Amino acid sequence: MMYIHYCRHCKRIHMLNGHKKYCPACRGHLNELKISYLKYVNLAPADRRAFRDRLGDPAELAACTADVRRSYDYAKWLQLTSKVEHSHSQNYAAYSH
Ligand SMILES: [Zn+2]
Repeated sequence: MMYIHYCRHCKRIHMLNGHKKYCPACRGHLNELKISYLKYVNLAPADRRAFRDRLGDPAELAACTADVRRSYDYAKWLQLTSKVEHSHSQNYAAYSH
């Protein structure tokens, strides 16, 4: 899953795979945005620029930032389900040999 992140330090929007905390360009702290990947990629270039410019304003950035606690719970839930799948596939591998 791709998520849209904003770096305040380089004033750039980064499309990154997963929930990232640090900017790949400057290692600064990222804000994960509420906007979905699909919604962002479907914006016209002018709208993308306008969106990025809005994020330069700290109040707008706060309004557009995803709820960190909720995404943390979601990440925990993902880990839990992937662990279940993992042990299941191990059993499956044992049977298939
Ligand atoms: Zn950066």
